[in-house]
Amino acid sequence: MLLDSRSGSPWKVEFWRLAGFILAGLVLGALFGHLAWMLVLALSAYVAWQLRQLRRFHRWIQVGKRSEPPHAGGVWGDLIYEQYRLYQRSRRRKKKIAKLLNRFHESSAAMPDATVILGSRFDIEWFNGAAISLLELESPRDIGRRVTNLLRHPEFVRYMYSGDYSDAVEFPRGPDERVMLSARIVPYGDKQFLLSVRDVTRLHMLESMRRDFVANVSHELRTPLTVIAGYLEALADEESLEPEIRRSLRSMESQAVRMRRIIEDLLTLSRLETRDTAATAQSPVSVPALIHGIEEEARMLIGERGQSLSLEVDEALWLRGSNTELHSAFSNLVTNAINYTPDGGTISVHWHEDEHGAHFQVRDTGIGVPPQHVHRLTERFYRVDSDRSRNTGGTGLGLAIVKHVLQRHGARLEIESTPGEGSTFTCHFGRDRIVRRGSEGARAERAREVSDGPI
Ligand code: ADP
Repeated sequence: MLLDSRSGSPWKVEFWRLAGFILAGLVLGALFGHLAWMLVLALSAYVAWQLRQLRRFHRWIQVGKRSEPPHAGGVWGDLIYEQYRLYQRSRRRKKKIAKLLNRFHESSAAMPDATVILGSRFDIEWFNGAAISLLELESPRDIGRRVTNLLRHPEFVRYMYSGDYSDAVEFPRGPDERVMLSARIVPYGDKQFLLSVRDVTRLHMLESMRRDFVANVSHELRTPLTVIAGYLEALADEESLEPEIRRSLRSMESQAVRMRRIIEDLLTLSRLETRDTAATAQSPVSVPALIHGIEEEARMLIGERGQSLSLEVDEALWLRGSNTELHSAFSNLVTNAINYTPDGGTISVHWHEDEHGAHFQVRDTGIGVPPQHVHRLTERFYRVDSDRSRNTGGTGLGLAIVKHVLQRHGARLEIESTPGEGSTFTCHFGRDRIVRRGSEGARAERAREVSDGPI
């Protein structure tokens, strides 16, 4: 029937139907007289027929189109056919979506990572099985509750409200820190969030074992090396020894000194890694005083090499942070500039503030770094040219220390370099770290300033 109703134009069928009713009225009028009444009767029958179709259609719609569609022709047939087609299509689509949703539920339930769907106010809408065991969530108790009321670690709460979800955040599950979690937010749709949480306890343990191992080995090697270097120095000064032997001893001594420097740098790095970021000193640091101190050390290092060192320092610009850590980072950058700039070159240090924050910049006219190496310079022991670095007495750890110190101060390092022309290393600090001191107050505080201990 449904397909029949599609044959021919429905309006044509409707027209012929009406014409049929009128013709019947005319015939009845001709046979029995009262033509006008007969026509009214025929038209009333036509309207009654239309109302019946409308009622059947209405009933069919009311029962949710679950029953077979009523038979009808003409425009009604077409209307019912279109409705039925739309209904079938939406049923198929619904089935498909339900299947997809089922599959999504099944796969997320099978995932070892906790998956939580959050609404615009971080209220929990759905979570998988792993979230029950890993985050100790319970359904339906926790549905609709804010996730930050259940996972309350300050690092996690800060991450959630920061709006920057480019990285994951790590935090302990409970106060005993036995289980470490790594959480990541993926925003999607209209203010919806997918929270994925992994158990990283094992990774964390391995990482801390590695850190402890490096720290312990470095610590254990420090004392014997100091003794060896001391003896070698004394022996190399011994006049009674052959010059050839003394030369060898000098070379051994300089290697021992280098090893000691590597160990000191490794210890510095492991201290930077193990100390809590929040524990970074927050006291005002007179960066101008720090830079002037580094300038003195730098001039001694330059010695006879004829490099020119210029400074442009905002004397009232201070930072909140750790004096010793900042000293270590800035002095590493200045020392590198001297080491990797040929004799007669220029090194300029610039400490200034702009609308983005405070910036410590060291620019040199040295050998530069080929672009393919730039992004790896802050890795431990990464060297562009190991021979050249060894000649300068470098440990390969300087820029790794710089990176760590800056991370602990919420700052970042920018490196620009052109081989053969020079490099610019810039440390960018946020505005929240800036402390402004008048030059009078600055001088008085600088006189009082004490170091916050070794890194
Ligand atoms: P190193 O102790 O070897 O200097 P760093 O970590 O301080 O170790 O630096 C890593 C590498 O980066 C160096 O070996 C060097 O090749 C390169 N480098 C660092 N600073 C500069 C600079 N100012 N100019 C050119 N190369 C540099």
